[in-house]
Amino acid sequence: MSYRIGIGTDFHQLVTGRTLWIGGVEIPHNKGALGHSDADVLLHAICDALLGALSLGDIGTHFPDTDKNLEGIDSKILLEKTYRLVQEKQFRVVNLDTMVCLEKPKIMAFAPGMQTIISLILKIAPSDISIKATTTEKLGFIGREEGIMAQAVVLLTKPD
Ligand SMILES: [Zn+2]
Repeated sequence: MSYRIGIGTDFHQLVTGRTLWIGGVEIPHNKGALGHSDADVLLHAICDALLGALSLGDIGTHFPDTDKNLEGIDSKILLEKTYRLVQEKQFRVVNLDTMVCLEKPKIMAFAPGMQTIISLILKIAPSDISIKATTTEKLGFIGREEGIMAQAVVLLTKPD
């Protein structure tokens, strides 16, 4: 078997008047992430990890924020398109580990829903998807609730 590992990181501003999408789930909150798409920070980090594992560039290369067709797009569609590139290279996902960094709100109650949504797109078991959350102990822009960050690490494999 061949193995490839990838890392992804994403940031978004948090602003009023936007819906907060994390991991494909709508999170009730008084702020949402600002971006060209639905600004789902976790799904974007996962896309970048998948692309990185295969040295296929980054999410901005494949889905530029200058593309009018991508305006407000559901990031689940971006993840599906990214996973198609993985499949085209005959790879599959072994497991995925992620971290979401935000001050508020608490999101772990939504993690099982995120695992289900991501598992359906990446065709792996929910138990192969780890979702974790942390704060920055009120430090910096995340602590001031001005922004949100997510990281993802993915392992891919294919038969030799
Ligand atoms: Zn993003």
